[in-house]
Amino acid sequence: MSYNIALDGPAGAGKSTIAKRVASELKFIYVDTGAMYRAMALYMLNENVDLSDTKAIAEKCKSAEIEIRYTDGVQCVFLNGENVNDKIRTPRVSDAASKTSVVKEVRVILVKLQQELAAKTDVVMDGRDIGSKVLPNAQLKIYMTASSRVRAERRYKELTEKGEKCELDQIEAEIKERDERDMNREESPLVQAEDAILLDTSDMTIDEVVEKIISLKETN
Ligand code: C5P
Repeated sequence: MSYNIALDGPAGAGKSTIAKRVASELKFIYVDTGAMYRAMALYMLNENVDLSDTKAIAEKCKSAEIEIRYTDGVQCVFLNGENVNDKIRTPRVSDAASKTSVVKEVRVILVKLQQELAAKTDVVMDGRDIGSKVLPNAQLKIYMTASSRVRAERRYKELTEKGEKCELDQIEAEIKERDERDMNREESPLVQAEDAILLDTSDMTIDEVVEKIISLKETN
């Protein structure tokens, strides 16, 4: 049976950085489920679908073919045959992803894909509903968070390093808005699963968080 680590938490908590590191140390596959929701959102934007029209999204998502492939251990998301990794990390797509991810039909398609991946391989999977919904039987569940200011600072650093112009206050406002939608939606809201271990990373370094998760796995 494969070993599954579920890593959930709000935007900017550091999930993907940590999940990548943990996966590489344990020789597990890292599955970034946010990237799948982002690819779906990109599809809706490309197709000019009105993001407030749930019915239109529910219908349109059936024609989006989303696939995950790994090249040298790096996850690549393919949307209808095209690698869209470089197109899904913009604030526009982030915002669209949190809107389209509320639609049940979108979640059904992507959750199935996530469950199939985890059934056949040892994974560290990050997202919002992994411990609560996608992998309820995961052997280790972590709920990772940090204050909204710290999370905004991390995103700010990430974006400015890529040469993008942005404002810290605006990023924090967007993060709070996204948290609000992710935590209060009807379908699979972001929640800490009952059996998940809470890690507040506001005052922790990346190395400390990685070590903590690996030691939890070893003692689990
Ligand atoms: O994690 P990331 O910021 O890439 O996720 C983008 C958006 O996708 C989130 O704001 C959330 O609305 C949605 N998402 C989700 N369920 C997941 C992962 C992401 O609803 N498992």
